Amino acid sequence: MSIMRAQQGKNLLQACDLDAFLFSDRSNIRYLCGFTGTDGVLLVTGDADYFLTDSRYGTQAKEQVRTAEVREYQVKLDGIVSLLKEKGLRRIGFEAETLSYATVQRLRDKEPAALEWVAVDKPILSLRGIKDEEEIAALTEAAALNAAAFGEVLPRVRPGVSEAELALALEMTLRRLGGEDKAFDFIVASGPRGALPHGVASARVLTAGELVTFDFGTRVRGYHSDETVTIALGEVNPRLREIFDVVLAAHHAAMAAVRPGIPLRELDGIARQVISARGFGEFFGHGLGHGVGLEIHEFPTVSTRSEDFAREGMVFTIEPGIYVPEVGGVRIEDTVVVTADGCRPLTKIPKEFLSISV
Ligand code: ZN
Ligand code: ZN
Repeated sequence: MSIMRAQQGKNLLQACDLDAFLFSDRSNIRYLCGFTGTDGVLLVTGDADYFLTDSRYGTQAKEQVRTAEVREYQVKLDGIVSLLKEKGLRRIGFEAETLSYATVQRLRDKEPAALEWVAVDKPILSLRGIKDEEEIAALTEAAALNAAAFGEVLPRVRPGVSEAELALALEMTLRRLGGEDKAFDFIVASGPRGALPHGVASARVLTAGELVTFDFGTRVRGYHSDETVTIALGEVNPRLREIFDVVLAAHHAAMAAVRPGIPLRELDGIARQVISARGFGEFFGHGLGHGVGLEIHEFPTVSTRSEDFAREGMVFTIEPGIYVPEVGGVRIEDTVVVTADGCRPLTKIPKEFLSISV
């Protein structure tokens, strides 16, 4: 794992006036030191860093962690506190969103006079928001698996097949092609279920004349793909076709507007304006997108409440949708990386209207 990332941990110490930072969030740990297991903490100090874990993960940690000294503990909190004392560290930061209240209390009780624990809100999320080459490569591979899997499963999308069968087929194909795991419970929402933005695949059977929305993804080296395609089964009524065209126009408009420096709130507004102008504003209830990386939803959010700006190397989704109760819905989602003068989609499935002959 790169020295540059380890340096980001050090910068945090300065910024927050800390002697050390105790990372326990798995994604932050993976990002900073390369450990992919599920238990352990990373202590970043002004000089050396320490990765602390128990004997189950000792061997794995020694193989994966290059920028920190690996130590094993018998009892986690005791191991942490004794290392802090050994190194004479006093003011220790921790991730406010990750460490439980009970754990912090127990840490505080151990050495109340010697240690000061400081909660820090999202310490490196904004740094993780800018992806380096290695990360973009993994995200690109994950996105390519989406396209390959969808191409394989598409011939099975026809009247009579259930949403759940298609979700399972996508999942198995992604795994067979090399994906690590499903990124989330896949959404396959057909007909009126398309009005559910989170319509996880059900036993419902597809019929001709309806739209089907697929939202799915996998992971490569820990990095996620996230993509949504909506397709038609044969002829759909003009109202559904109109909904599709409006969502696609909103998607195009937002994609075309991405560039370094644009407020993310403005990107959301551009898509929302296209949808509102056609009278569907009330049916677009969620934000335009979200960051994608080691987590499926991470910094930044692209919504009416965003306060961040697009920056080169950020990776986020553009996913406008319209959901009309009892009628159906459409969402179109690409994951993009912000480039010097615009954006490049990582996801590759064509998003133009596609009607499967039935
Ligand atoms: Zn998605
Ligand atoms: Zn998404």
